[in-house]
Amino acid sequence: MTGAQATTELARDALTSLADGLLLVDDAGRIALLNPRACALFGVQEALWLSLPAADFYRALAQQTGQEQNLAPRLEHYARRAADLPRLEFALRTPEPRTVEATWFRLQGGARGGYGVLWRDVTRDKELERMKSQLLSTVSHELRTPLASIKGFATTLLRQDVRWDEATQREFLRIIEEESNRLEELIDNLLDMSQVEAGALRIQKEPVRLRRVVREAVEQAQRRTEAHWFETDLPAELPRVWADPRRIRQVLNNLLENAVKYSPDGGQITVRCEVEGANVTVSVADQGQGIPPDMLERVFERFFQVDGASTRKTGGSGLGLAIAKGIVEAHGGTIWAEAAPGQGSIFRFTLPIVKELDLRQNDVRLGKDKFNG
Ligand code: ADP
Repeated sequence: MTGAQATTELARDALTSLADGLLLVDDAGRIALLNPRACALFGVQEALWLSLPAADFYRALAQQTGQEQNLAPRLEHYARRAADLPRLEFALRTPEPRTVEATWFRLQGGARGGYGVLWRDVTRDKELERMKSQLLSTVSHELRTPLASIKGFATTLLRQDVRWDEATQREFLRIIEEESNRLEELIDNLLDMSQVEAGALRIQKEPVRLRRVVREAVEQAQRRTEAHWFETDLPAELPRVWADPRRIRQVLNNLLENAVKYSPDGGQITVRCEVEGANVTVSVADQGQGIPPDMLERVFERFFQVDGASTRKTGGSGLGLAIAKGIVEAHGGTIWAEAAPGQGSIFRFTLPIVKELDLRQNDVRLGKDKFNG
């Protein structure tokens, strides 16, 4: 193989391996190359398009976007003016919704002229951008509401011209305290979320008796509401799980709070533990409004809320379940939601049962092995 041949092959390999889609069009406006990434992105085959007019390809693409009238002429217009109109972003409908950014460049130096188009799938970048702005608006909204309340009641208490009786003063102070707790919780949630995302969530595992953790969480939840009725269903023998008790409490608290928040007064909430193979499955079932089937997975995304922030009656940042998922997964477990038969939702998560090996490692960590010989 000559040096020139090797270079050509290398160039071909590079075009084939490119992470972006690439289309090369010759000076007669015919397709000279469609790399595998472009074929995958648009669901086409290179062999069927080679030597055909690029204009036909643009029309086929435009059909996929559902905006035939518009996109094909725009793509051609950009192709003609590749030098001064380099970039265009458009949405693809099939096989799943994607945002594609096209970048044009002139082929220079060769005798044949023509141009190239790089197609980059920017769906993820767009999603990140959307999430960032949603983060800002959620955080500012969620911070503003309790803050306005704290400020309002503090200002009212400080008024010189009114004397509040003691009971009223205490009531105002109680609200200030409650709203400060809400602020604190939101900030804790944001910190936890950032740790989950950085893979830096601090988890201190030890052998945990779930019976106790579940009972305490349920008692605490029951103290907070008189309108709901809690049931626990725990097997007589429940093996210990390998977990961070504080974090598991956090998951349970969140699931119990949601069960209360999203179900009507008088509803029953049932917490159940079941041994299944090497795991214990914990479930929290309510008789509330339930979750539409296509959203059962999405509720675990950060900031996702079924009825959208603007129409909500209940507070919340949409972070609780995303954090719960991060915590359960850091324990090697899984968490998911199901539609309850009849009405309501069931959230389930698994935790690994303590193995002999875990116990020994734990003893080593605590320095107990010295005494066991
Ligand atoms: P939030 O702070 O909004 O409660 P979560 O992350 O805890 O955030 O929950 C995300 C969304 O999932 C909620 O806004 C709600 O729409 C839905 N959801 C969570 N738990 C339940 C439930 N038990 N029943 C119905 N919908 C629920």
